[in-house]
Amino acid sequence: MITVDHVSKRYDSLQALNEVHLTIQEGSCFGLVGPNGAGKSTLMKILSGVLQNFDGDIIVQGISIKKERVKVKKLIGYIPQDICLEETLTAKDNLLYFGSLYGLKGKDLQDRTGKVLQQIGLEERGKDKVITFSGGMKRRLNIGCAILHDPSIIIMDEPTVGIDPQSRNSIFSIIQELKEKGSTIIYSSHYMEEVEQLCDSIGLIDKGALVECGTMAELQQKYNKPSLFISGEGLDEVDLTTHGEVEAKGNGFLLQSDDPLMTLEKLIAEFRIQNILPRRLELYQPKLEDIFFKLTGTQLRDS
Ligand code: ADP
Repeated sequence: MITVDHVSKRYDSLQALNEVHLTIQEGSCFGLVGPNGAGKSTLMKILSGVLQNFDGDIIVQGISIKKERVKVKKLIGYIPQDICLEETLTAKDNLLYFGSLYGLKGKDLQDRTGKVLQQIGLEERGKDKVITFSGGMKRRLNIGCAILHDPSIIIMDEPTVGIDPQSRNSIFSIIQELKEKGSTIIYSSHYMEEVEQLCDSIGLIDKGALVECGTMAELQQKYNKPSLFISGEGLDEVDLTTHGEVEAKGNGFLLQSDDPLMTLEKLIAEFRIQNILPRRLELYQPKLEDIFFKLTGTQLRDS
């Protein structure tokens, strides 16, 4: 288990993290979601032992990062948001270099380098200089450099920013493989769909504070009742509030209902009488975006 124990961090007068407390199960994939500037990178750097000056503690497998940073760092592979590679070297030489920093040498280093090149799907390009690589390939190599020492915990800070969909899928496959191997993944993103797709549990962070944490199912159950989405002309003629709690969403309304199918039938009957043809009338599956908005009043993407 990994415990983020009441972690706070200030940059001069700016409170970047405020008493963040959460636990992450080993072998799970944990997603940290929040808008730009929420404090995700700061927490990722603290978790990985890169940033040392903070209040609180991180406990990994019973070991305090404050007391035994080097020991904890060996368990962790940290993939920073900014790509950190030597572009004039080949992919393989970059891996050999980073492997040696982790203390690997000789046959061990060669074996791991070959394995990792395969894992990140770059075995054909090992001898090519990084300068010739696409952004997505560099991102994959960046991941490779952090997993050479075969860490049990992998921390990824927004690994899909600015890359094409194909490279994104390839990164997802790498993550899937690491998950199947039993690695613990800590993944930050401001793309909710990614986190919904990849992660078992989720922490929502805004302005340095953890606003909610749990599995997707727990969050949905807690915050979002089943709903219908309705849009179109003439809806003013119908008092939607007689059918349930109504909330404006985009160009229409979300109507909460414990029995959405029954509500749907009643609405259709009422629309027939009033001669209203809605543009959209559908069952609505709540998304992480909706929960985040409900909790913070902030859209993740536009911030
Ligand atoms: P996120 O990763 O969610 O975008 P960050 O952790 O990078 O958020 O930043 C949180 C806040 O801390 C932001 O307001 C950012 O400008 C500020 N910040 C981050 N790093 C530094 C730093 N080294 N010095 C001063 N302020 C910083």
